[in-house]
Amino acid sequence: MRLGFVGLGIMGAPMALNLIKGGHELTMWNRTAAACEPLVQAGARMADTPAVVASECDITFAMLADPEAARAVALGPDGICDGLAAGRGYVDMSTVDAATSGRISVAVEACGGRFLEAPVSGTRAPAEQGTLIILAAGDESLYKEAAGALDLMGKKRTFAGEVGQGARLKLVVNMIMGGMMSAFCEGLTLARESQLDTTELLDILDAGALGNPMFRGKGPQMLAGNYAVAFPLKHMQKDLRLALELGHDLQVKLPTAGTANDAFVRALAAGDADLDFSALLRTQND
Ligand code: NAP
Repeated sequence: MRLGFVGLGIMGAPMALNLIKGGHELTMWNRTAAACEPLVQAGARMADTPAVVASECDITFAMLADPEAARAVALGPDGICDGLAAGRGYVDMSTVDAATSGRISVAVEACGGRFLEAPVSGTRAPAEQGTLIILAAGDESLYKEAAGALDLMGKKRTFAGEVGQGARLKLVVNMIMGGMMSAFCEGLTLARESQLDTTELLDILDAGALGNPMFRGKGPQMLAGNYAVAFPLKHMQKDLRLALELGHDLQVKLPTAGTANDAFVRALAAGDADLDFSALLRTQND
C-alpha cells in the first residue's frame, strides 16, 4: 500500500519514518521543505503539494500544528481535497477541535474520499518508538484498512465512533495533562520557596499514588532547567483553549483547566511558546 504523510514536525517526522521502516513506500510533503531531507535519505519521495501526495497514495496521514494548519492543508489551494480520488483515505492525526475535523470530513467525503481523525496521546519518544496511543473516529472501513499502518506508529488504538469523538477524547486527555502540569509546577515552586529539597519531593511523589511517567520523566529535567522541546508549550495552550471551548459549548464548568490555561497564556507572553510545555515552571510565580 502506498502511503502519504503531510506535516513532518516533532511528531510527524518519526511517525513517517516508522511507516518507512515498516516496509511502506512513502510520499510526503512539509510546508518547510528542509524537514523532508532526513526522510528522503530514508527512501521517501518528496511531493510539491499536499494534493500530489493525496493523488498518489492509498492513504495519506497528516500531523499538523493546529486547526488552522489542518484546514489549510486539507482544504486550501493544492490541498489534500484537490488531489483525493474516490475511495482514497485521509487520516488526520493532528490535535484539533471537533468542528474542524467535521469540516474536513465533509470536504473529503464530497470528493469521494474517506476520512478518519486519529489524534494521538504520547510525545516525541513514543512517536520515535512507535508506542503512541491513537484515538480514532470517523470512517470505520478506513480505520480497519489503516490498522497496519496505525500499529506501526502506536501501541494502542481505540475507535471512538463518529467524527468529532476522537478529537473530543484527545482534548479531554490533554486538558487533564495541562492541569496536572500546572499543579506540578505550583508544587515545585511552593516546595522551593519553602526551602524544601525538591529532588526529595520528586522521590516522594514517585513512591506514592501520585507517581506517573510525566512527573518521573519531566521532573528531574525541570529542576535542572532543561526545557528541550518534546511537546511545544504553544500546542499545550492550544489544547487547553480548545478544551475550554468544548466545555463552553456543552455548558461544563472547567475552572481548573481555566486556571491552567491562564498560566500557559502567561508563559506564551513571556516568550516560551517553543520550549517544552514543562517550561511553565519558569513563569509559574510571575
Ligand atoms: P510541530 O513540531 O510544531 O510541527 C507542526 C507541523 O505543522 C510542521 O510540519 C509544520 O510545518 C506544520 N504547519 C504548521 N502550520 C502550518 C500551515 N499553516 N500550513 C502547513 N503546515 C503547517 O508540532 P508537533 O509537536 O509535531 O505536533 C503536531 C500535532 O500533534 C499538534 O496538533 C500537536 O498538538 C499534536 N501532538 C503533539 C505532541 C507532542 O508531544 N509534540 C503529542 C501529541 C500530539 P513547518 O515545518 O513548515 O513549520
